[in-house]
Amino acid sequence: MSELRFKVVEEAIKRKAVCMPAPAERASEYFGMYVFNEDKMRKYLPKKTYEALFETMKHGKALSREIADSVASGMKQWAMDMGATHYTHWFQPLTGGTAEKHDAFVEYDGKGGVIEEFSGKLLIQQEPDASSFPSGGIRNTFEARGYSAWDATSPAFIVDTTLCIPTIFIAYTGEALDYKVPLLRSLQAVDRAATEVCRYFDPTVSKVYSYLGWEQEYFLVDEGLYAARPDMVLTGRTLMGHESAKNQQLEDHYFGAIPTRVMAFMKDLEYECWKLGIPAKTRHNEVAPNQFELAPIFEETNLANDHNLLLMSIMKKVARRHCFRVILHEKPFKGINGSGKHNNWSLGTDTGVNLLSPGKTPQDNLQFITFLVNVMMAVYKRNGLLKASIASATNAHRLGANEAPPAIISVFLGRQISAVLDKLASSSCDDTIEFDDKCGFRMGGIDHIPELLIDNTDRNRTSPFAFTGNRFEFRAVGSSDNCGGAMTVLNTAVADQLAEFKEAVDTRVGKGEPKEQAILSVLKAYVRESAAVHFDGNGYTDEWKEEALRRGLDCAVSVPEIIDQFVAPTHAEMFVRMGVLSSKELHARAEVKWETYTKKIQIEARVLGDLVMNHILPVASRYQGMLLDKAFKMKELFGADKFGSVAGQDMALIEKISVHMEKIQTLTEKMIEARKVANKIASERKKAIAYHDTVAVAFDEIRYHADKLEEVVDNEMWPLPKYRELLFVR
Ligand code: ADP
Ligand code: MG
Repeated sequence: MSELRFKVVEEAIKRKAVCMPAPAERASEYFGMYVFNEDKMRKYLPKKTYEALFETMKHGKALSREIADSVASGMKQWAMDMGATHYTHWFQPLTGGTAEKHDAFVEYDGKGGVIEEFSGKLLIQQEPDASSFPSGGIRNTFEARGYSAWDATSPAFIVDTTLCIPTIFIAYTGEALDYKVPLLRSLQAVDRAATEVCRYFDPTVSKVYSYLGWEQEYFLVDEGLYAARPDMVLTGRTLMGHESAKNQQLEDHYFGAIPTRVMAFMKDLEYECWKLGIPAKTRHNEVAPNQFELAPIFEETNLANDHNLLLMSIMKKVARRHCFRVILHEKPFKGINGSGKHNNWSLGTDTGVNLLSPGKTPQDNLQFITFLVNVMMAVYKRNGLLKASIASATNAHRLGANEAPPAIISVFLGRQISAVLDKLASSSCDDTIEFDDKCGFRMGGIDHIPELLIDNTDRNRTSPFAFTGNRFEFRAVGSSDNCGGAMTVLNTAVADQLAEFKEAVDTRVGKGEPKEQAILSVLKAYVRESAAVHFDGNGYTDEWKEEALRRGLDCAVSVPEIIDQFVAPTHAEMFVRMGVLSSKELHARAEVKWETYTKKIQIEARVLGDLVMNHILPVASRYQGMLLDKAFKMKELFGADKFGSVAGQDMALIEKISVHMEKIQTLTEKMIEARKVANKIASERKKAIAYHDTVAVAFDEIRYHADKLEEVVDNEMWPLPKYRELLFVR
């Protein structure tokens, strides 16, 4: 009997929900208590320092050394009052997670003792010896140094007893080594370009913000069951496992009553979020069994992304208090839904206008249509690149599978907006567009875009990039991903597109065309040009795949080849033009992505090989041996004549087991050979392609036979917790 499996199942069944009393105060009272926010700045910083820091935060002004020292001193005081003993620069290396190296505040005081010290220098810049992070070759050359530098636009916070300072991470030579630098640059680019366009409509606009509201999906698995699955521990997903008879067919989990143990976890997590200033808002059961979601209120993109990264890290810690493991992998279980991280994205002005929200006046609606159409145009031109921004070995399982955004990026607009755009594209300027005295415009449909639209847009869950009334929802982002990657590409693409739009309109105006008419003329051309990316139908069908190919959309499905988009000349030029990533940085990023892809597949291949050879085959063989023993005895007892009829079943089973075992063995050997060949390839790109084409292809085949064995081998002997246990015990 498989002792470990039954022991962990028994323990899991017995677990009770942890008692989670609500904090004594209301959330509004302790929200952000661990954050060095404006309240604390006012309290702990001299007025002059506070004002200078505020300027830096709001307008990106550089901090003087003197001010930095003063900020550091106030921040240290606050942190120590909160019980902190250490500080760390908290950054986002290209691994996708976050990194931290803690240093204590203590320094020698020169009198034989120690004092707590934290200078402006330590706050602003550090040189963590983080040379093992992926750099795509940037740091191998001659200087291995990497620097972290304070991002004053995201507030410092305390986790446990450590003051965490959000930082960027760059090479000695200045290249970005992280997700934050390009994200910040892209936010600047989109601010610049969008502000200029806004001024056509409102000259008082001086800044445009990009907003992000992510929805984090995740699975929870009991920690004992998890520990008994080496594949989950080492790769984050199950590499085998026969489907549970019941999984999500009945759709009884989605939005269902939250299980008590999970509820305790969610409460605990929310309290932690609120203390850290993460505006957690929504919690619910997702579609798959044991799948859940947390969504906050949207925030400015850089802060929202920091908050998402912080959430991913604290949810892992909180889960342990409840004897759960959080699974952030995009596809932990075969046959049921995977997890994504929908990125709700919009642009808004410093005057408080959401640029993707239909307005009340014709003028507002012209502005709305301007931004909507430019976003569509940007997605049209960069659809392949946007896909590259979310492509990874783990997210590949989701894309194109029949449950998640397809591997083709298209834009869903909904019935009403589609009708408006159709009208715009087919109208001739003279007949339907009139200008009223206030320079507003009238065009059947557009000036009356109904306000109820915001709540009323039809939903299309199959679209990877859907307009949802006052924002776009980029659904293809993976649940384990740093949203920064996708948000950098989206904001850069939109910035570049808006700049081009501005130039086109200005040229027309320069030739004497009235402004509104110039805007409409350019938009009309865009609507026609970008029509290929507009698709309101079912994105999961095969017809759409064929149609998308005809329309010229990027339909590549191999992750290593999708990554090529980062270095494609047209996209590389855009990144350089917008000042977001240099050609060297882009090449480095592509290298890291290929390398990471290879490593992930390599690890999975090793774990799979180990599992089948050391766990599955020995058990199957033992069970087969028992059947053989029995057969021998039956033959003795019943004699050769009767044997055929009484032992027919057993004999068939014995043969069946042999077939699957033989298949597993040869397929695994073949996979190992393919790995050896791939490992010798020097080019990261070619190696990743080899891993994709020759190694990863073996996984499903091997799994098929392992799952077949699971179906026939005695349940008592099966060593790995089964799907029904992983997904339904909680
Ligand atoms: P649904 O599951 O219906 O798509 P949720 O309520 O789960 O919606 O999540 C919607 C997310 O979108 C939330 O994070 C919300 O704050 C965010 N959001 C709402 N309006 C905007 C906006 N204008 N810009 C960016 N994000 C937004
Ligand atoms: Mg959503």
